[in-house]
Amino acid sequence: MDALSASTPPAQAQVRCCIAGGGPAGMVLGLLLARAGVPVVVLEKHLDFLRDFRGDTVHPSTLEILHELGLLDAFLQRPHDRVEELRATFEGQSFPVADFTHLPSHSKFLVLMPQWEFLDFMCDEARRYPGFELWTDAEAVGLLQDKGRVNGVKVRRGRRAGQPQDVELHASLVVASDGRHSALRDAAALPHISYGAPIDVLWMRIPKEKGDPASTAGHIAGGHFLVTLNRGDYWQCAFVIPKGGHDALQARGIDAFHAEIAKIAPFFAQRLPQALPDWNAVKLLEVTVDRLESWSCKGMLCIGDAAHAMSPVGGVGINLAVQDAVAAANLLAPMLAGTATDKQIDDTLPQLQRRREWPVRVTQAAQRMVQDRVLMPVLGGKVTNAAGHVPWPLRMLSRWPMLRRLPARAVGLGVRPEHVAPPPASL
Ligand SMILES: Cc1cc2nc3c(=O)[nH]c(=O)nc-3n(C[C@H](O)[C@H](O)[C@H](O)COP(=O)(O)OP(=O)(O)OC[C@H]3O[C@@H](n4cnc5c(N)ncnc54)[C@H](O)[C@@H]3O)c2cc1C
Repeated sequence: MDALSASTPPAQAQVRCCIAGGGPAGMVLGLLLARAGVPVVVLEKHLDFLRDFRGDTVHPSTLEILHELGLLDAFLQRPHDRVEELRATFEGQSFPVADFTHLPSHSKFLVLMPQWEFLDFMCDEARRYPGFELWTDAEAVGLLQDKGRVNGVKVRRGRRAGQPQDVELHASLVVASDGRHSALRDAAALPHISYGAPIDVLWMRIPKEKGDPASTAGHIAGGHFLVTLNRGDYWQCAFVIPKGGHDALQARGIDAFHAEIAKIAPFFAQRLPQALPDWNAVKLLEVTVDRLESWSCKGMLCIGDAAHAMSPVGGVGINLAVQDAVAAANLLAPMLAGTATDKQIDDTLPQLQRRREWPVRVTQAAQRMVQDRVLMPVLGGKVTNAAGHVPWPLRMLSRWPMLRRLPARAVGLGVRPEHVAPPPASL
C-alpha cells in the first residue's frame, strides 16, 4: 500500500460499464455502448491520444463499420493516406502484392491514419452521447470484487498530472481492453497460452523528401525487412529484427544501423544522420503473440490484445480489436441498456469468446507462419537475389493481377468480419 492509499480513502463512483483501456478496442466499444444508451466510462492511463502507437492501419472491414454507423464520410475528412494497392520492394525492384479495388465492401481501399486521429475521432463521436465519459490519466490498477464476482475497478487518477487520487469505480460489467500487458487480466488471474514471437520491431520517424516513393511499402534487401508508412510529411518506419537482437545492433553503433537501413532504402541514406542521430530516436517495440484460455470471468470480459496479443504481421491487430468491440456491443449493449441482472450478464459473456476465438486463432496461425517461414528466412539472409531469382510468390503476384485480390481480402476483410447491429429504436 502506498502513501496515498494509506492516508486517503478512495472516492467512490458507479457506472453501468467500465472499459479499461482507450485503444481501438476500448474506444470503439465505448462509442457503441454509449450509442445504445449505456452509461459507460472508458479509462485511459495516458493524458491524451497524442503518442506513438503500434500501427496506423484502418482496414476496409473497420471502414465498413464506420459506414454502417454513418460516420465514414466524416472519418475520411481526417488526414489519411488512401492505399488501393500494396507493394513490396525486393532488392530495389518493386512488385504489386495486394489489390483492394475489388473488395466486396464500400471502401475498396485501406486507410493509413495516425492512430491518435482514429481514437480522437471515435472519442468525439462517443461524446455526442450523454452516457459516455472518457477519463484520461486514469489507470486501472486492480479489480474490485464481491463474493467472487468482479464488480468494479480500482483507478488511480491524476498521477501523470501530479495530483494522484484513488477512485473505486463500481460497474455491472468491467471490460479489459488494456492491451497486451493487461493489468486487469493479470488481476483476474486469467491464464493465457503464449506463442512467443521470433521478431521485434524498431520504430522510428524519417522525414520525407521530394523524389521519395509514392506510398507505403515493405522493403526486403540484404537480409533486412523495413516497412515505410506514409504519415504526411514523414515516414513512420518499422525495421524488423530477430527477437533479442536489439542489444547486438546497438553495440555495433548507430552508424552501422544507418548503413543497414541505407542498404534496404538507399533513398534514405543522406538524411539518416540527422533523422536518427542516436538510439533515442529508435524505439524498440516488443512483439508477442498470446491468447487467453478464457476471455471472461464473472463480471469481467477481455477484448482486443488483452484477450489475444497480435503480431504486427499483416497489420491486422487493430482490426481484430475493433471486430471484438463490435461483437461485444452486439451481444451486450441491449442487456446493459436494459435491466439485465449480473447473472444474465455473466451467462452471456462466454458467447463473445465462442464467436471471436476462431477468427483470432486463424489470424494468429497465419501470422506465426509468416513470422517463421517468411520473416525469419529474410532476416537470416536466406531470401536474396544472389542467384538472380525473385521469390516465387512475388513473381506470381506480379504476373497474375487476379491473385493480388487474395492477400487484399485476407488483410482487408479478414476472417468473419462483424457488422453493427441496427441502432436502438429511440435514436
Ligand atoms: C510493433 C507492432 C506493430 C504493430 N503494427 C500494427 C499495424 O500496423 N496495424 C495493426 O492493425 N496492428 C498492429 N499491431 C498490433 C496492434 O498494435 C494491436 O493488435 C492493437 O493495438 C490492439 O488494440 P487494443 O485496443 O486491444 O490494445 P492497445 O492498442 O494496446 O490499447 C490499449 C490501451 O489501454 C491503455 N492502457 C493500458 N493499460 C492500462 C491501464 N492499466 N489502465 C488504463 N489504460 C490502460 C493503453 O494506454 C492503450 O491506450 C502492431 C503490434 C506491434 C507489436
